[in-house]
Amino acid sequence: MNTENAQMNIETARSIAHSVSPATEHFDVLIVGAGISGIGCAYHLRTQLPGTSFVILDAQERFGGTWITHKYPGIRSDSDLHTFGYRFKPWVGPPIATAGEILSYMDEVIEENDLARHIRYKHRVLSARWSSDTNLWTVEADKANNGERATFTASFLWMCQGYYRHSEGYTPDWLGMKDFAGPIVHPQRWPDDLDLSGKRVIVIGSGATAATLIPNLADKCGHVTMLQRSPTYFWIGRNAIELAEELRRLQVDEAWIHEIVRRKMLFEQYAFTKRCVAEPEQVKKELISQIVAVLGPDYDVATHFTPRYRPMQQRIAFVPDADMFLGIKSGKASVVTDEIERFTKQGILLKSGKTLEADIIVTATGFNLCVLGDIDFAIDGKPLHFSETVTYRGMMFTGIPNMVWVFGYFRASWTLRVDLVAEFVCRLLKHMKEKGAKKVEVALRPEDHKMPLLSWIDPEIFNPGYLMRNMHLFPKRADKPEWQHSQDYWTEKDTIPAIDLDDKAFVYG
Ligand SMILES: Cc1cc2nc3c(=O)[nH]c(=O)nc-3n(C[C@H](O)[C@H](O)[C@H](O)COP(=O)(O)OP(=O)(O)OC[C@H]3O[C@@H](n4cnc5c(N)ncnc54)[C@H](O)[C@@H]3O)c2cc1C
Repeated sequence: MNTENAQMNIETARSIAHSVSPATEHFDVLIVGAGISGIGCAYHLRTQLPGTSFVILDAQERFGGTWITHKYPGIRSDSDLHTFGYRFKPWVGPPIATAGEILSYMDEVIEENDLARHIRYKHRVLSARWSSDTNLWTVEADKANNGERATFTASFLWMCQGYYRHSEGYTPDWLGMKDFAGPIVHPQRWPDDLDLSGKRVIVIGSGATAATLIPNLADKCGHVTMLQRSPTYFWIGRNAIELAEELRRLQVDEAWIHEIVRRKMLFEQYAFTKRCVAEPEQVKKELISQIVAVLGPDYDVATHFTPRYRPMQQRIAFVPDADMFLGIKSGKASVVTDEIERFTKQGILLKSGKTLEADIIVTATGFNLCVLGDIDFAIDGKPLHFSETVTYRGMMFTGIPNMVWVFGYFRASWTLRVDLVAEFVCRLLKHMKEKGAKKVEVALRPEDHKMPLLSWIDPEIFNPGYLMRNMHLFPKRADKPEWQHSQDYWTEKDTIPAIDLDDKAFVYG
């Protein structure tokens, strides 16, 4: 959805709010999103707070979020599934998984925990309005885009809607795009009938999506060219974990294997992230030497695979079994590092003056970031602007009662934070019940008022384009650990469970 559509969404929501509401259903907790976050949170709610009534609303026709909306060839995770999978459900397959494997895993979680009856598909949430008179959220949803509305009230709103717009990816506005004679495809909207056979394909981009697409397209089309403005880091490895294989040979229980391998992966990721700061040049050398080992000494690795930033300032895509590099080595794929001057009828004219001819152009150029699902939020009738709030540990926001957002990790597996945040929410809801509180919100304490307010994520730590482009829309962070999303699982695994719910930052009512 572009800004105009988002605005339309909000306009529609406003007009609905003034029309006659159909019968309203009430739930203790309303979860927005049936992706890997929403399903994980529902599991925790059901197991830790049995008896809590809840509903999950999702705009799509089925669960999965990211893993159903992306349908491009070869779509797979770039994190290992021992950490991208839930803590509570063993992952028994190879570490890098296809979208289909992730969906089957989620399906088992839904089935084993009787979650299906709690999910309402084809419910796009348009508005969420908090009333301090009733201490309730009123949530309006559009059913299957057919004009029918559903109204819910909920005591607590649990936002699991991800962080980007599913309806449309980000495509820069290049000169002459209309002139190109062939299809221009964004990976978020891959046409089922795209005929690749014998075609010359250009993939614009160099991130994880491009790395997945290149080897897959190389097998199906005439030739594929990865066109990148600047190089990215990649990590090459076998799509297998020796320790897991060994433990399986010893017939160790899968639950144990999951826990042990998870700890190993987490420890290694932690050590690696620390090394990226402590000795970035050495890490850079190691990452690049892996590529030289596959492509050979004559390949121009300096131009195409030597990034200008420190490793981990952007996510490092894992290339299982070196598939992308083997595609390049075989000659079925090639890399061009240059900038786009304009599109032409036959392809792309580069700033260097060279022309790349193509039949199909794929724009693997990333996401359109979206704050809280393009939902029109209001508190006691006043429109809510998230950019005016300050975040409490990337979960709650000043001035917004009874609401938590699951915003996972970018540099580690997103889902690690789902388990952590879910436990926090369950603890918070129990605490409210014990106190007899109907409302909780976070507020800056007197000692916090002089804190400098900064952007949601520190660009020194993590700075991909899709985040930087939209940072102004996001809540603010400050310089104290409790007022920021640190993106640091290793610290948060201890600090989040230890949060003092009676700290002055929590205001109950
Ligand atoms: C191709 C690809 C590969 C990735 N691989 C990895 C990886 O390997 N490791 C990793 O850590 N991260 C990865 N990511 C990031 C990934 O998006 C997250 O890790 C994770 O899947 C997000 O899960 P989620 O449930 O929070 O959000 P999503 O998967 O985005 O799901 C959100 C759900 O909320 C619904 N929703 C949104 N707004 C509304 C609304 N207003 N009303 C109703 N429903 C709504 C959507 O329909 C969707 O179903 C990848 C992303 C992509 C695109």
